[in-house]
Amino acid sequence: MEYEALLDRAKEQLPDEGVSTERFQVPKVKGHLQGVQTIINNWFEIAKALDRKPEHLLKYVQKELATPGEIIKQSVVFGTKMNAAKLNEKIVQYADEFVFCKSCGKPETKLSKEGSAIIMTCQACGARNPVKSRI
Ligand SMILES: [Zn+2]
Repeated sequence: MEYEALLDRAKEQLPDEGVSTERFQVPKVKGHLQGVQTIINNWFEIAKALDRKPEHLLKYVQKELATPGEIIKQSVVFGTKMNAAKLNEKIVQYADEFVFCKSCGKPETKLSKEGSAIIMTCQACGARNPVKSRI
């Protein structure tokens, strides 16, 4: 009980701006169906917002969804009808895995290879964390 009281007090003492850090918004896919194909028009914008390569993002998403996609000009073309919500979900998952700092949650990170490991270095807090996924 005392512990809970302490927690309550700690919450009250937090300055407002410390609580509501503007959470980076991962852009949502924009696209359309063309026959049985799904065309995503803003793939490059999404990759740019995440500061990652469009090819890397695609490699991850197509593996996760077991659906091959192809970059044509600035768009991504999937060979089947894709569910936008599913794509958005995988892109957020990618961002959690490869973009957001595991320590502070900010997206200002860089990936580097060290031996066989991929290390995420955060420009905001300086944390270095290994990335688990292999793609
Ligand atoms: Zn950080």
